[in-house]
Amino acid sequence: MNPSRPSLRSALGVVLAAVVALVASMVPAGSSLASASSATAVVRGLSPAVLAWRLTAPATQTIGYSQRGRAIVAHRQGSPDAAQVVLIVGQMHGSEPRGVDVVREVRQLIFPKGVQVWTISTMNPDGFAAHTRANARHVDLNRNFPHLWKPNPKSATYFPGVRAASESETQAVMAFLDELRPDVVVSLHQAFRAVDLGPPKAQRWIDVLSAATGLPIKNIPCNGECRGTMTGWFNSTFVGAAITVELPRHVSHTQAKIYARAIRSLASALVAPPLPVPSPSVSPSGSATPSVTPVPTVTTAPTLSA
Ligand SMILES: [Zn+2]
Repeated sequence: MNPSRPSLRSALGVVLAAVVALVASMVPAGSSLASASSATAVVRGLSPAVLAWRLTAPATQTIGYSQRGRAIVAHRQGSPDAAQVVLIVGQMHGSEPRGVDVVREVRQLIFPKGVQVWTISTMNPDGFAAHTRANARHVDLNRNFPHLWKPNPKSATYFPGVRAASESETQAVMAFLDELRPDVVVSLHQAFRAVDLGPPKAQRWIDVLSAATGLPIKNIPCNGECRGTMTGWFNSTFVGAAITVELPRHVSHTQAKIYARAIRSLASALVAPPLPVPSPSVSPSGSATPSVTPVPTVTTAPTLSA
């Protein structure tokens, strides 16, 4: 909140009243974040409260703190009333630093009107400082989200925490995602060199990211079952789509710029009209031929990552 701009607040109030009327019919039955993680959860979409939150959200804000007290910061580019919302999480595993470089480049770009791009450079600042995959309590944050979470006390590498969402970093990101309700979340990891398979609602954005990055679309293994992942939780809880992108191990400055521009391609696609439904075209010889651009075969697959 910014109390120094009362006139803007007043104007926003008028806008909000209209927006509330428009979207009231779009509001699904409410549910708590905890219940949203259950198998019977209602998938949560936009609401007047979400739109109000977006309009008043500071462009740079601390969304929570790590176990060691480091700030987790989200930053917005674009107008707060832009209808389409993208969130990039540059880093979840502290030993995978190149997504932070990509976010740095994303923050240099200008995005099309109609889309607001949020970035979190790292949601694991303790791991980033220590160059460790896990957070300061040795928890793999990408096993700590409350979707298919399962205890795994024996795993040193993928320890999911003592309970779902036990970690302050997880809680901060969950609360922020529930406030923001982005249309697309891109979670950057290393180093499988691929855009992960995802649910059907993510397919268009997966295709855009693969084409713009040159990274193939692959089923990224989870070293076992994909449990407690952020993308899995988001995709099962919200209308929007979350995608894992695995960068190469080595990312040059030039490559970081390319990956950042891929995010801009994604933003452009979000505000572009969807492609027309392919229909048969007639060749000069009179025979009908499909005018379909081939797309990779996709099955619903668990997401995650290194
Ligand atoms: Zn990772």
